[in-house]
This record gives sequence, C-alpha cells and structure tokens, in this order.
Amino acid sequence: MRKIAILGSTGSIGTQTLDVVRANGDLQVTGISAGKNIQKMEEQVREFHPRLAAVWSEEAAKELAVKIADTSTKVVSGMDGLLELASMQESEILVTAIVGMIGVRPTIEAVRAGKDIALANKETLVTAGHLIMPMAEKYHVRILPVDSEHSAVFQALNGEDRKRIHNLWITASGGPFRGRKTEELRNVTVEDTLKHPNWVMGRKITVDSATLVNKGLEVMEAKWLFGVELDQIQVIVQPQSVIHSMVEFEDGAVIAQLGTPDMRLPIQYALYYPNRRYLDGERLNFAKLGTLTFEEPDTETFLGLPMAVQALRIGGSMPTVFNAANEKAVAKFLGGEIGFLDIYDIIGQSMENHRVVKSPSLEEILETEQETYQWIESRW
Ligand code: NDP
Repeated sequence: MRKIAILGSTGSIGTQTLDVVRANGDLQVTGISAGKNIQKMEEQVREFHPRLAAVWSEEAAKELAVKIADTSTKVVSGMDGLLELASMQESEILVTAIVGMIGVRPTIEAVRAGKDIALANKETLVTAGHLIMPMAEKYHVRILPVDSEHSAVFQALNGEDRKRIHNLWITASGGPFRGRKTEELRNVTVEDTLKHPNWVMGRKITVDSATLVNKGLEVMEAKWLFGVELDQIQVIVQPQSVIHSMVEFEDGAVIAQLGTPDMRLPIQYALYYPNRRYLDGERLNFAKLGTLTFEEPDTETFLGLPMAVQALRIGGSMPTVFNAANEKAVAKFLGGEIGFLDIYDIIGQSMENHRVVKSPSLEEILETEQETYQWIESRW
C-alpha cells in the first residue's frame, strides 16, 4: 500500500488523483483537504476513509465535523490544518493539487517531514524554487512532476544524463484565443476564456492558459525542476496537445512524450514512479490524427509568457510578484471586476512597482505576496 495525502482533493487534479486511487487497489488515502467544498469532502471521507480532513475555512470545518461525526476522520482547519496534513506521519507522498501560493508552506512542511511530493501546484516552485529544491536534496525527497509538460520532460529524461540536455521544448496549446490579436481580446468574457480547446481544468489555470501566464509559470517551474538555464527552455505551440513536451539532447536527438490529453496519466506516473501501470481511456490513433502542427507563440499579443521570462531573468522576489499579481488579477477577472487585458496591466504595473529582494526567505516571499495584493487592492 502506498499512502498518499492530497492537498486540494476536491479540485480538478484532486478528483482525478482519487480516480487513479479508485482504479488501483494499492493506494491508500491518509488525508484530504479543500478550501470550503465540504459536500464533496463528506463524499470523499465516506469513500476513502482518510484519517485527516483539512478544511481552510474554520466555519466549513465545523460543519464538516458535524456531518461526519459518525466516522473516525479527524477534521482540522486553517493553515495549521494544512501543515498537519502535509506532514502526517503515516503518509509517504503529498499530492499538491491546491491552487495558488497557499500551497508553498504545506509543501515545505512536507519536504521537511521527508514526504515525496507529487507536484501539481506550480506556484510553489515559481515563488520558492530556490528554497525547495535544495531542501528536497537535503531531506532526500523526490519532487515528482504532475503538470503534463513537466511529466513529459521527466519521462523523456528517464535513464538519461541531465548534463547532456541541450534544450527543453515545452509545448503549449495556445489556449482558447490562439490566433487573435490584442484588440480582439478587449471584450472577451469570462465564459469565452473558460472554454479551453483541449483540457478541462480548474478556473484559475484555464484563465492562465488563455493569457499564456500558465506557460510562463511552467517555464519557471521547468528551470527549477530540471536545473537548466532559462535560455535552454523553448516554448512551442502544438495546438492538438498531443506532444506534451520534449527534450533535445546535445547530439540532436529529440525525445518526446505523446498521449491524449488526460491528466490521470501524469498523476499516476508520479504516484508509481519509476513504474508504469495500466490506465484505461482513449489511446492515440496516429492515422486518425493525421497531422501534428507547430507554431511560435504570439508573445506580442499574449504577454503572460514574456512577462514571466522577464520576472525570471530579474529573479529574487520578482517571480513572486508576477505570480501574486496574476492570482489577484485572475480572481478579479473571474469576479467580473476587470477585463481580460487588465490582467496584463496589473501584472506589469506590480512588477514595475516592486523593489527586488535578491534571495528571499520564506517570510520575505510571503511578505512580498501580501504587499503585492495590498498594492493592487489600493489601485484597482
Ligand atoms: P481547482 O480550482 O480545480 O482546485 C483547487 C483545489 O484547491 C480545490 O480542492 C480547492 O478546494 C482547494 N483550495 C483552494 N483554496 C484552498 C485553501 N485556501 N485551502 C485549502 N484548499 C484550497 O484547481 P486545479 O486542480 O485545476 O489546479 C490545482 C493546481 O494544479 C494549480 O496550481 C494548477 O496550476 C495545477 N495544475 C492543474 C492542472 C489541471 O489540469 N487542472 C494541470 C497542471 C497543473 P475547494 O474545492 O473547496 O475550493
């Protein structure tokens, strides 16, 4: 039995992780957590019998405790609850399927407690990669990527010498607005933005895909995960989302991982690494597929990618500002307070306003996050 705890068990990655658990007989869920969706948590407690259920909202946690009083699951709340879940003694792997920077502290706690990390929460490495990667080495913890692009690179690197990497090719679908120009994006609605052509994901990452912020976050994540230089990371649009990413080696060989868009594959790969397991679902049919196409990303229209590259080049606390500004801007966009293009304005102005801290501690990262939120709230 492999024992796993899940941060964000009610979301898109969390529920697909539980699909993987259901399909295999040898994974045990020790802990689950969510922000406030206690209805789904109750169902999960009754099906998977975790020892711990962590709910962010204290009120919702009290309600859940009443609902599941007949079970042996303990309910905890707030950041203390997430930290308890992250480091619970009996679990071996923490799946970080929580959205946003809220995932940083629990991930660090889990690394300190020696848990392997199945990493979906990209905001963690973006803001604190310089702290987490050395810490993972120190505590002999494996950081196993769940993001499909990083899982593809990880799979392509199996058995290879990482020193022989020439380039990483991170693929992008281009999002729902691929091919449009800036003026055509001015009046797009939340509904238009949430229609991703290939993947069904949580709301925040779907908006991030439309702005190409998601690809920017993935470039930053790739740098930390695979220890490459920024200039070794190339982004290429692959609109069919069949090639999930590729590694080009020094001898010119390119190894890619292909598959139908299904997040259960990278989730399962991370949970069983280095082994593969059977997975049901649609298979690639190359004859039916016919063509695979490639394009340069349009970085003049979709500013999320060049802004992320700039934040990464500046380094220090700037990626935190990029990420926090984006989190706030996306929440405002989803709440109907701002337009699509305002997301870029908010990120750009937040970055301009920031005085960089060179190698920020966890406290400085969290302070930078709060300062960025406050600065945005005082202006928008
Ligand atoms: P969702 O929005 O679908 O789910 C987010 C999860 O986090 C939910 O369980 C939610 O609980 C929980 N959560 C939110 N806030 C808190 C909080 N304060 N405390 C505790 N739990 C909280 O997101 P996704 O599953 O789409 O994405 C999760 C992460 O994985 C993101 O970082 C994303 O970038 C990354 N990722 C996602 C992919 C995908 O295909 N979806 C692909 C690759 C990476 P509640 O339901 O109560 O709100």
